[in-house]
Amino acid sequence: MPLLSRSLNGLLTCALLLMSVHSLANHQVVSIGVYHNPPKILINAEGEVSGFFGDLIKEIADRENWNLQLVLCEWDECLTLLKDGKIDLMPDVAKTSAREESMSFHQQPALHSWSQVFAHKNTSISSVLDLNQKRVAVLDGSVQQSFLTQLAKEFELTIDWQIIKGFQQGLELIDAGQADALATNNLFGGFHANQYNLEPTAIIFQPAQLYFASPLGSTEHLERVDFWISQWMDKTDSPYQQILQGWQTQTTVFVIPTAFWLASGLVTLLLALSLIFLKRMKREVHSTRDELQRNDEKLSDILTSQKQEVHQLSFYDYLTQLPNRRLFMDRLQTLLVNLKKEPANGALILIDIDNFRSLNDTLGHQMGDLLLTEFSKRLYEYLDSNVNLSRFGGDEFMLILEDLSLNTHDLLTEVEKIIDQLRFALEEPFHLNQQEVLTSLSIGVVLFSEKNHDANELIQHAELAVFDAKKAGRQQVRFFDKEMQQQAEHRTQIEFGLRQALKSDELLLFYQAQYTDSQVTGAEALVRWQPLGKPLVSPAEFIPVAEASGLILPIGQRILKQACEQLVAWSANPKTAHLVLAVNISAVQIHDKDFIDQVILLLKETGAPADRLEFELTESMLIDNVEETIVKINKIKELGIRFSLDDFGTGYSSLSMITRFPLDTLKVDQSFVSDMHKDIRAFNVVKTVIELGRSLNLNVIAEGVETEQQHRSLEELGCKHFQGYLFAKPCPIEQFMLEQNLGH
Ligand code: C2E
Ligand code: MG
Ligand code: MG
Repeated sequence: MPLLSRSLNGLLTCALLLMSVHSLANHQVVSIGVYHNPPKILINAEGEVSGFFGDLIKEIADRENWNLQLVLCEWDECLTLLKDGKIDLMPDVAKTSAREESMSFHQQPALHSWSQVFAHKNTSISSVLDLNQKRVAVLDGSVQQSFLTQLAKEFELTIDWQIIKGFQQGLELIDAGQADALATNNLFGGFHANQYNLEPTAIIFQPAQLYFASPLGSTEHLERVDFWISQWMDKTDSPYQQILQGWQTQTTVFVIPTAFWLASGLVTLLLALSLIFLKRMKREVHSTRDELQRNDEKLSDILTSQKQEVHQLSFYDYLTQLPNRRLFMDRLQTLLVNLKKEPANGALILIDIDNFRSLNDTLGHQMGDLLLTEFSKRLYEYLDSNVNLSRFGGDEFMLILEDLSLNTHDLLTEVEKIIDQLRFALEEPFHLNQQEVLTSLSIGVVLFSEKNHDANELIQHAELAVFDAKKAGRQQVRFFDKEMQQQAEHRTQIEFGLRQALKSDELLLFYQAQYTDSQVTGAEALVRWQPLGKPLVSPAEFIPVAEASGLILPIGQRILKQACEQLVAWSANPKTAHLVLAVNISAVQIHDKDFIDQVILLLKETGAPADRLEFELTESMLIDNVEETIVKINKIKELGIRFSLDDFGTGYSSLSMITRFPLDTLKVDQSFVSDMHKDIRAFNVVKTVIELGRSLNLNVIAEGVETEQQHRSLEELGCKHFQGYLFAKPCPIEQFMLEQNLGH
């Protein structure tokens, strides 16, 4: 339990607990930092400093006539106080070259210590490799944490880290069955081992020598500490040895490896050994340290050789060197566990090489092996290095796509895009021993989220999807999820239909009026697809497909042309010459290298007034290639075209980013407008956007205004521009002109 909470930090220097060793007369006041780290340092029930360092400094203080003032602090606070010269001596400090630059140490180490993993008795952990799949408590920011995470990475171990704020919390986790092991220092672990059913493991690292430290350059007290330690070190009955024995008695059992206890089997013998051990404490400390170092070296040699063995034989496929099924399953399981903490969508993709068996039979196994090797190389080179990939079986490869969009449309687009690219790369001919080999792939996809917990079930589903793909005639992609499969097929149909729509002019524009002070000031152009003899298709359905397939470029071009032509028609009529037409521009368009040239050409060809044209962008477009997009927008603005930010508030753009873009208008997203009277958060978003617009000197238009109540509230908040069903619905141009009374 911490002695002082951090929030009391400010009061810390006032919280000096005066402990009088003798009368104050002729005593020098020496302040000592005390933090709670038993058995090394602690405050006992009587309120006195104790523990190994505490008792030692009391003995020294007695002889030096020091009046010890205890400064209670947390570890990092203590170090800051020491560096600032506010305490004279700080115990239990490991000497490092970095620390030697900001504090002074004495010569002879006061104590030898090391880090060690202590495991619950019911958990069998005897080597680093046994930490795989275990819940290990580590102190946040500690040396143990950095050492063990590095080790886990090196050995590709999957460890469920339980990050703790203090070692005591680690003990509590173990006690509650929420952790299997705790990484701590040998003294702390040993001190509490019995009470918490802990056993020391052979995972020992980072031996350290502990000292008292003083503010940099202040050696007066340190010299005295050194004097007494060197006086006492070699004498078995000296105060130093007695204190060490006193605190070691409780930890002796943990310094001796458990195997020793088991091997001896005789408690009496152990007691006798313990007594001998106590008497030879000094020698033990030294020899333990030397042995530890030797053990450390031995352990690391063994582990290094085990590492290759474990990795290559247990976790990697011998032919392709890719992770094997076992490692893949481990990783998938870990991922599913992590998803519970941080929900996200992902996909498992199982790739099966069509007709591999017959290829193997006709060309021979050697060629089969060669194909698998080359195939996996291409796959590996093609994919991002962070994608989990494995050779899952004979001719089956499995990969995990993580962090996919939470929106189903976008998710499908992302998955399909990667699969298309994969197929493109892998269905290119392979040249094996001067022979050209062509492959096709059957691909099964199963989507997962935090709702999935069972890795085996997911794998089964991916296999079923591949089976479906094979049944459908191979060289197919199949989703396990029937709904997804239907959507994927639907999208393929839309893509096909859109190609047709471009040829037969089935795309038309609707216009939705925009209002300022009850006057129509312009309109937003909204595309519609009217397939021959079928109902209108909503842009929400076909624009994402058009974007994913690249068809948005010719479609966007077509829309822009129609919009320009409409502006030309309006400019000829005094009633409509002032109208501004807003056109939605997709990310794919704005990032297309030819976009600016095409816009310039269109303006020239149609003669449309650029200052009546407004481009609507969405926030997501402002995230990629920021610098390049700013340059582009500026160039387009030079033509006279304005910019508005559509659906504002739904994306991730930060305020600082928005201010970098030369925008004219913010469009409050309709979802906030529609909820503004139901949900205070939505109301606050609307209010903030309006205030933001005012402070950035930008117009703010509210879209999706459906009710008088919304209109009134928006006006009260200072919004002046409106669009929504309350004023007008999107409609064909003839209707728009009629409704808005804009005819000749
Ligand atoms: P958007 O740009 O935010 O357009 C506003 C959407 O809200 C339009 O849907 C409009 O019909 C609808 N809307 C307007 N007022 C109201 C209202 O009061 N209540 C409700 N519930 N809805 C209202 P639409 O036409 O279906 O368009 C959907 C989205 O498709 C657009 O959202 C835009 O992102 C995209 N889109 C439409 N036309 C184009 C286009 O020409 N090019 C591109 N790239 N995207 C387009
Ligand atoms: Mg829009
Ligand atoms: Mg919008």
